[in-house]
Amino acid sequence: MSDLLNRDAYVKRFEQFLDVKKMRKTPERFAILRCILAFQSHFTIEQLAQSLELQTYHVSRATLYNTLQLMIEARLVRRHVFEGLPVQYEKAGNTPHSHLICTHCGKLKEVRDNDFIAFMNARKFTAFTADFYMLYVYGTCNTCARKLKKQKTK
Ligand SMILES: [Zn+2]
Ligand SMILES: [Zn+2]
Repeated sequence: MSDLLNRDAYVKRFEQFLDVKKMRKTPERFAILRCILAFQSHFTIEQLAQSLELQTYHVSRATLYNTLQLMIEARLVRRHVFEGLPVQYEKAGNTPHSHLICTHCGKLKEVRDNDFIAFMNARKFTAFTADFYMLYVYGTCNTCARKLKKQKTK
């Protein structure tokens, strides 16, 4: 489904996007993109800032936020708002997956669900073309389930 197969594809799409928007291709914007591509999974704006600091790039939170907004618009990045967790981001080209969120400890797990992916790929909607979907499953992780059980038996 995604054409974002490698790092070059992200860079190219971002360049094209900035061209169309008549925005400058600043080194800062591409340093942020490189950092994002290094994350295997989800990240928060804080984690992104830390990762940039390690490369001695000082970018204000406002710039980070604005750049992430641009990348979301360019369909390079997706934003997740999970209940009870700070806002998370991830690369748009990650393989499709579902998110399991524990409502007790906030632990987040990604799972690949082939049946669900096949179902969604085959699903047709009236007067609507689907680009992508995000599935959030809220529940209780095993660790929390054990703790809760112990509390009950006390
Ligand atoms: Zn838990
Ligand atoms: Zn994810």
